[in-house]
Amino acid sequence: MKKIQSVRGMPDVLPGVSGRWLWLERQAQDILAAWGYRQIRLPVLEHTGLFARSVGESTDIVAKEMYSFADRSGDSVTLRPEGTAGCVRACEEHGLLFNQTQRLWYAGPMFRYERPQKGRYRQFEQIGVECFGFEGPDIDAELIVMTAQLWRALGVADAVTLELNSLGSPEARAVYREALVAWLTPYRDDLDTDSQRRLLQNPLRIFDSKVPRTREIMAEAPLFADHLDDASKAHFEGLQALLEAAAVPFVVNPRIVRGLDYYSRTVFEWTTDRLGAQGTVCAGGRYDGLVAQLGGRPTPAVGFAMGLERVLLLAEAIGALPAELEREVDVYLLNLDDDQLPLTLALARELRAAVPGLRLQMHCGGGKPRARLKRADGSGAELALILGEEEVAAGTVAVKALRAGGEQRTLDRTALIETLRALVAGRADGRDCK
Ligand code: ATP
Ligand code: MG
Repeated sequence: MKKIQSVRGMPDVLPGVSGRWLWLERQAQDILAAWGYRQIRLPVLEHTGLFARSVGESTDIVAKEMYSFADRSGDSVTLRPEGTAGCVRACEEHGLLFNQTQRLWYAGPMFRYERPQKGRYRQFEQIGVECFGFEGPDIDAELIVMTAQLWRALGVADAVTLELNSLGSPEARAVYREALVAWLTPYRDDLDTDSQRRLLQNPLRIFDSKVPRTREIMAEAPLFADHLDDASKAHFEGLQALLEAAAVPFVVNPRIVRGLDYYSRTVFEWTTDRLGAQGTVCAGGRYDGLVAQLGGRPTPAVGFAMGLERVLLLAEAIGALPAELEREVDVYLLNLDDDQLPLTLALARELRAAVPGLRLQMHCGGGKPRARLKRADGSGAELALILGEEEVAAGTVAVKALRAGGEQRTLDRTALIETLRALVAGRADGRDCK
């Protein structure tokens, strides 16, 4: 019988690799907590209409990438392709926006029916951040400075570039849109099919095209920068001054338009040249109009989302993954004879309590002494703790170094606990891995 395989573009993360994910998530969560951001946990399934109304009918996401289906009662629901729409929906539904400010984050899988390739999947993970109720460029700067800190914590800061742009006010954009369409229309037949469609629906997005001929044309196209309204210009200059003061380097890239319809004023992308066409690891911007568009009171808002697969691919490509991630178990505790099982269980419990962060795997499954030691070796642990008859009688434990030379010592409880504490402290992340 043919075995059932995973759905295309929906990768498994296997043990051995999942440690990287925990590392990345922990770094991000620590920084978010340190900046006073609070987590919001949102459903994966939303009413399809939410995305049509927020992300926009003319975007690739809504036009051709959504996993939408009728549930058993016939309602059209969609596996969320992004997190902002659901976050705004939840905040409105629970009254979190009126007369207050919010700094929120969420994490989890997003779903888009795209052509799978390295750095592009149909199920992928994002960490997203959304702030509500702040109008000025201070919060835009805060978000960017916070992400810069994350890149440093992950060791990828030298491999990413911050690109900034302003999309101005909706009114200024409407004027520019006319000018862009007028300029592009003579080139219509030279554009790729997607871009021809966008010419009518969402011409700014043609800047996003990855088709070479289209890109050549767009390189000559008039830029929005010349149409920027005064208030947006002041906002954008304010942001740049704050980033300069915080010593966060950036480049202004007037061609960044972002794939979603709801952006206004600030947009930014953190990009890398190490991942080919999938070079954007984090992207965001301001979406002052979205809350009202979804039926709420006008509320300024700004946020970003980072693609965790791409961040991890980048960390791997530049050798930034900490070596300690290779080790998932610190010590393997075994007895040589199952008569000692109750004592072994008790010792495991004592050691886990005495050494915070210790990752101790206990032997299960019986077997001859040699087979047990082989398992200890296969566990990847640094040390085997062996409880034989002699050790039990003497209240000691035999400690065998599994990686370095195979040296064996007999330690009493105090010395053992000291050794294990040193082992945990010596892991370069230096923290509990609970
Ligand atoms: P791209 O231009 O690469 O398609 P996007 O503009 O569609 O990206 P956003 O909707 O802004 O991306 O999502 C934010 C981030 O999520 C991206 O910068 C990227 O890191 C990640 N991301 C988006 N789509 C995918 C995907 N299909 N697979 C993996 N990561 C993704
Ligand atoms: Mg996309």
